[in-house]
Amino acid sequence: MSSINNIFVLIKQVPDQSAKAGINPDGTIDRAKAKRMLNPFDRFALQAALHTKQQYGGKVTAISMGPPPAAEILLEAIEHGADMGYLLSDRRLAASDTLATAYALHKVIQHLGQPDLIFCGLQTTDGDTAQVGPQIAERLDLPQTSYCEDFRVEGDKVMARRVIEGGYQWVKMAMPAMITVANSYHHLEYKTIRGARKVQMLLRNEEEKSKVIKTITLDDVGADPTLCGLKGSPTIVAKTDKVAEIGGNCKVRQGEPIEHMVRDLLQTTNLREFARV
Ligand SMILES: Cc1cc2nc3c(=O)[nH]c(=O)nc-3n(C[C@H](O)[C@H](O)[C@H](O)COP(=O)(O)OP(=O)(O)OC[C@H]3O[C@@H](n4cnc5c(N)ncnc54)[C@H](O)[C@@H]3O)c2cc1C
Repeated sequence: MSSINNIFVLIKQVPDQSAKAGINPDGTIDRAKAKRMLNPFDRFALQAALHTKQQYGGKVTAISMGPPPAAEILLEAIEHGADMGYLLSDRRLAASDTLATAYALHKVIQHLGQPDLIFCGLQTTDGDTAQVGPQIAERLDLPQTSYCEDFRVEGDKVMARRVIEGGYQWVKMAMPAMITVANSYHHLEYKTIRGARKVQMLLRNEEEKSKVIKTITLDDVGADPTLCGLKGSPTIVAKTDKVAEIGGNCKVRQGEPIEHMVRDLLQTTNLREFARV
């Protein structure tokens, strides 16, 4: 029988881009004004972590890096059944690119001790790079599988099924290992009654909350601040352009004889031009 002790899941708070608040006219995000949500891809990672706990035992620790409000998604993870949450929050992390983000998060993982499995989402809906999971695995020198849609633990190994073009492949990895979870994995189940009650209690009791949701800094995890934030970020966003929306009219004709419909369409200027070519 396989047994697991520590399951880490990395989750990020992202702007809710379906809500108009905080989206500037040029398409950039005003993070202070934007509504916030758990990165949709991380819901699959959280479900994978909770499944691991249900099937093989262990403790689920949710980890996030972000400003103080990001603690909201850690509480959400507790409502779903996670045991602990750690928020790495430090002003010196501002303007971190993926390399600096992965550096900081790998220091958190090292600080928390040896995990058996680490789950990440496939990508985020704001940065959208899908780089952070694999970069953390590289930093920690761990085997990794991306695009994972199923997995099982066998002794001290994990078998992970990853999506590839036209099919899938099974990858066997020694644990500890990193898995980034595809959105074809199971949807996140409902919050548990026990989890929801626990969070209600934590919200009323700051002292108890601080035992379950811990906010830590770069100093706590022994991270070098020169490798974080703007200083530690070799990526420079030189310019951002908004994709131009191309407008157009669409006519749908049904039920008439086909010749009538074609004649009618050809009477529109563009199509006549097109027909001459
Ligand atoms: C030059 C530059 C400056 C930037 N400045 C800022 C800034 O000031 N503020 C800002 O918010 N962003 C900033 N960003 C964006 C920031 O780099 C990314 O948000 C971050 O590195 C994560 O990358 P991603 O969103 O593409 O994650 P992906 O690589 O797409 O994420 C994959 C998975 O990794 C995990 N993950 C990723 N990020 C986190 C996290 N923070 N906590 C926990 N798990 C995580 C999740 O499981 C996620 O599903 C900047 C980017 C660049 C290039």
